[in-house]
Amino acid sequence: MSLKIGLTGGIGSGKTTVAKFFAALGADVVDTDVIAHELTQPQGAAISTIREIFTEKFITAEGALNRKEMRALVFSDESSRRKLEAILHPLIRIEVARRAAFFTAPYGIIVVPLLLETGGYRGMIERILVVDCNEQDQITRAMARTGLDEQTARAIAATQLPRQERLRRADDVIANDVDMSHLRQQVDALHKKYLALTNKD
Ligand code: ATP
Repeated sequence: MSLKIGLTGGIGSGKTTVAKFFAALGADVVDTDVIAHELTQPQGAAISTIREIFTEKFITAEGALNRKEMRALVFSDESSRRKLEAILHPLIRIEVARRAAFFTAPYGIIVVPLLLETGGYRGMIERILVVDCNEQDQITRAMARTGLDEQTARAIAATQLPRQERLRRADDVIANDVDMSHLRQQVDALHKKYLALTNKD
């Protein structure tokens, strides 16, 4: 059985980048954002319920989730956000468990942006790895990557745990406040640590 590590961090903190570095070192990686995307493509398993609960306005002509409309709704209205999460999170968890059962590397990384907020992966993961980044870099990077405006990026950050609380719950922390090579060095060090941990068992 692989050691399972939950990787989390705020919006734009560097989770995807860190996960790619781990994958390049041979770790198994599952990213819940990728699964959420798949579930909300045309014919995705979440589409019919989203249509039923939120109406046709939130479905594109192709039959996918209309991300722009939905983002505007859920980050201004908490009850809608909770409804969307109630549809997506159980489906995502089932798919993560299914994929994790096929892990073959000594350890696997499960990327869950809301790992600490939802608590839903407690039984599935053995360690928590937090990618930490100061809020200004986080917002700037999130805006650059996604094209979100600053207000939306800050609204999303505001729905997530405060930085100190996230750090308090971490078993391991990667500080992403310098550059890519600094980031990679920390991933290399953790890779060695995780291999050592799996060798002990
Ligand atoms: P999201 O929460 O939006 O999915 P994320 O936490 O997965 O984001 P990434 O996508 O890895 O974060 O990083 C956000 C952006 O910042 C990307 O464009 C990435 O290339 C860039 N980035 C990440 N770390 C650094 C760094 N140390 N220096 C410069 N750019 C960085």
